[in-house]
Amino acid sequence: MTDQRDTTVKRGDIKDSVRNALWARTAGRCTICNRRLLGDSRTYMHSVLLAELAHNIGATDGTNSPRREYNAGVTDTESEENLLLLCHDCHKIIDHPEHIDFFPPEKLRDIKESFERRVEMVTQDGGLTRTAALRLGAQIRGSLALASQREVAETLLAVNYLGLVETQRSGDFTCRIHGAAGGRGYWESAQQSIDDTLGLVRQAIDNGDVEHISVFAIAPIPLLAYLGWRLDDKTPTRIFQKHRDQFVGWSWADHDGPVEFEVSTTGSSADAQDVVLVCAVTSEVNPALFPEGIADAPRIEIRPVNVAPSPTLISHEQSLTNFAVKWRAALAVAESDYPTAQRWHLVASAPTSVAIEAGRAIMRDSHRPVTLYERGSDTYSGVLVVNA
Ligand SMILES: [Zn+2]
Repeated sequence: MTDQRDTTVKRGDIKDSVRNALWARTAGRCTICNRRLLGDSRTYMHSVLLAELAHNIGATDGTNSPRREYNAGVTDTESEENLLLLCHDCHKIIDHPEHIDFFPPEKLRDIKESFERRVEMVTQDGGLTRTAALRLGAQIRGSLALASQREVAETLLAVNYLGLVETQRSGDFTCRIHGAAGGRGYWESAQQSIDDTLGLVRQAIDNGDVEHISVFAIAPIPLLAYLGWRLDDKTPTRIFQKHRDQFVGWSWADHDGPVEFEVSTTGSSADAQDVVLVCAVTSEVNPALFPEGIADAPRIEIRPVNVAPSPTLISHEQSLTNFAVKWRAALAVAESDYPTAQRWHLVASAPTSVAIEAGRAIMRDSHRPVTLYERGSDTYSGVLVVNA
């Protein structure tokens, strides 16, 4: 004897799954008349499902079963293929003896296919962009500064991004840099940590788990530039920054107009071995603090137009884009005006996002090795080299 109840439950499950699939394919609308099948659209109350599952080829044998005489090759009349999600009125029409000749199986299949194609077309560009959060944190004044998962989630949601924060494999890549900047082995081990984390990101990209990256970083400027230099330039990447305004948090605030940047050159010895690249964005960079080796080298400086550098200068995301464009132009000047240079030196007073962009623009093939400088109390020191 078979267990009648189990069989019933199983058939019900299949029916539910077919109904759900058709519901998804039609966006909850009648496949024939496009009527919404959810009842009142203005509220979540009274979501009465008005949908009916209609058979193309009738389910039962017999002359009254619609389109049964066409039954060629349809073995499972309960399949998703043979069912249409319809409103009650349309269901009645297609099965009515007087109208049934207008709706042969081929016609119903065409209607179903073109309706589903249309739904797919209009819905494919909506929704949230899936992104993977890359967090970099470092010890600042004794404690680890790192964007919290909550800050990340809130920031991403505000720009219609869906942060995949559950798993290291696909969504939450966190790099914590321990120790005080400048301690023994600090810069080397920090680079190694960044490399390790980006290795995991690389894997996830190769596996197809990650197609977009959102960067949340707090670290000394040389490490931010290093991170930027190491970032994959083929994967769409958006950089966020912790703003001083605590109410803004990590979101870009677009109420102030964007800032423009300009590039100027100081010193012109055409056979220079060293060129200093200066970013004066958060504050002025004082050349008097440069170490001996670069004190007399020609300088290419990028700074905001018509405003003084300031810690709150970059609050508009367009300002960051403007910086990135001008910065690439500055590097092109370094290439063309100082062809004999062997080394470039990056001295930056810049917010996190700008430091990352500064590193991103350094190109492996065409640019020189770049020494990255950290500001000390009375001097700048070169602490690591990229592009060597
Ligand atoms: Zn209808």
